[in-house]
Amino acid sequence: MNLLLPLRCAGCGLAGFALCAGCGGRFARLRRVHPPELSSAPPVHALARYCGRARTALLACKEGGRRDLEGPLAARVAVALREILDEHAALVGTGPVRLVPAPSRPAAVRRRGRAYLVRLARRAERGVPGVRTADCLRLSPLVRDSVGLDSARRFENLRGGVLLRRSRVPSPGTPVLLFDDVLTTGATLLNCREALAGAGLPVAGMLVLANAARET
Ligand SMILES: [Zn+2]
Repeated sequence: MNLLLPLRCAGCGLAGFALCAGCGGRFARLRRVHPPELSSAPPVHALARYCGRARTALLACKEGGRRDLEGPLAARVAVALREILDEHAALVGTGPVRLVPAPSRPAAVRRRGRAYLVRLARRAERGVPGVRTADCLRLSPLVRDSVGLDSARRFENLRGGVLLRRSRVPSPGTPVLLFDDVLTTGATLLNCREALAGAGLPVAGMLVLANAARET
């Protein structure tokens, strides 16, 4: 990181902010989304649409090494988690809820220098009593980068490719909220849910930072 560079908003370039109020506000309107592939899934919530400044800021954090965005984004995630827990109390019950980040390919984690989604989850959980992160999923080495793949190929690429990290799996029956960055086709979330079901873990809800799928 070059400390001599002036701080600029990752969404719009405004000086003096990591994420200005306007761009941060793009992640402030939690909404239910209904992608057709997830029609039988538990509720899916998104913080933002994956376009414009929200997309620019998210990519700056994910691929551009802007770690200073992790705090502001995690704060938005924490607010969203509290809203979801309030709204869907019956789904998650009264016990502890585990926030499970969708896994990234090891090559992507190495390229980015960190598992940024796990870091966001761990920062967010600090602001939400009763929620703890369980980084208990990983991707098979056979899973390829899905960028550029159409929906059918994304599903094919991920089929059976989400695996459990056995030592980190919560006790069976623990309610889980799945957490991913961008919802494109739902292939990642569905395969994560399937892997967790194999460990007796019910997914009570799904939260994504941004929705790239059509909203109805
Ligand atoms: Zn901005």
